[in-house]
Amino acid sequence: MHGIAAMNTMSHDFEPREADSNIVVPDDVQQAVRTLLRWTGDDPDREGLIDTPARVGRAWREYCRGYAEDPGAHLSRTFAEVGGYDEVVVLRDIPFQSHCEHHLAAITGTASIAYLPRNRVVGISKLARVLHGYAQRLQVQERLTAQVAQCIWDNLQPHGVAVVIDAQHGCMTGRGVRTPGVGMVTSRLLGCFLDDSGSRKEVLALMGRG
Ligand SMILES: [Zn+2]
Repeated sequence: MHGIAAMNTMSHDFEPREADSNIVVPDDVQQAVRTLLRWTGDDPDREGLIDTPARVGRAWREYCRGYAEDPGAHLSRTFAEVGGYDEVVVLRDIPFQSHCEHHLAAITGTASIAYLPRNRVVGISKLARVLHGYAQRLQVQERLTAQVAQCIWDNLQPHGVAVVIDAQHGCMTGRGVRTPGVGMVTSRLLGCFLDDSGSRKEVLALMGRG
């Protein structure tokens, strides 16, 4: 059907921004962490844990900085004139980290994002920014997958969008059923990738999911 433009991620484009190490963590937040430390069975006053409440407070602001942004804004600057370009754009295996809303445990994985442009394309790193904007919140993997796809769909109005996320959940590997190494795969297909089985097969193959 269409030609293909696939590329692997260039790591430096997708590094998280610098954390704000000067942020003041309010006392009630620190007290909450101390309570949790005590609940684990440890002593929040022992030397190694003295600065932990402030560090945890700063870390959580960083893990969840996606709340402070509108991921769709990354797609506002588009290139309208693409010279008849009608190829699938695929960004493969973008590493990301998120946290599950049920246990606050880390979700680590990779996402592959594809779209078939209608009139407009974006700089390729913007797709990763959309992913991080939603990943840096408390999530469930299914919703993260759907939100990324819907954001691209709404903002670029392409012919099709496909998002596949493969991730491991700290709440599965470190507790409960304890199944290290088991990845969960979710996908969301919209437009031609949903409606047309040929397009779907092709895009999934491109994403390594054929
Ligand atoms: Zn969980």
